[in-house]
Amino acid sequence: MPRYDYRCRACGATFEISRPMREAADPAACPQGHDDTVKLLSTVAVTGRGGSAPAPAPSAGGGGCCGGGGCC
Ligand SMILES: [Zn+2]
Repeated sequence: MPRYDYRCRACGATFEISRPMREAADPAACPQGHDDTVKLLSTVAVTGRGGSAPAPAPSAGGGGCCGGGGCC
């Protein structure tokens, strides 16, 4: 399962969460409980598809780990 880094804009903490790709864009609360967080792009362990914008949800497939193989 890929890991994503987030940074809390309320307290400045950075933290990491492992979650399915399809939930990558979901809000993540920081360990302090703030929910004003932003996803960082540092840990792109899965595909090199990176862009600056979070990919919208439509699961059009595409290669990679979760392209329908069911690994996630
Ligand atoms: Zn926080």
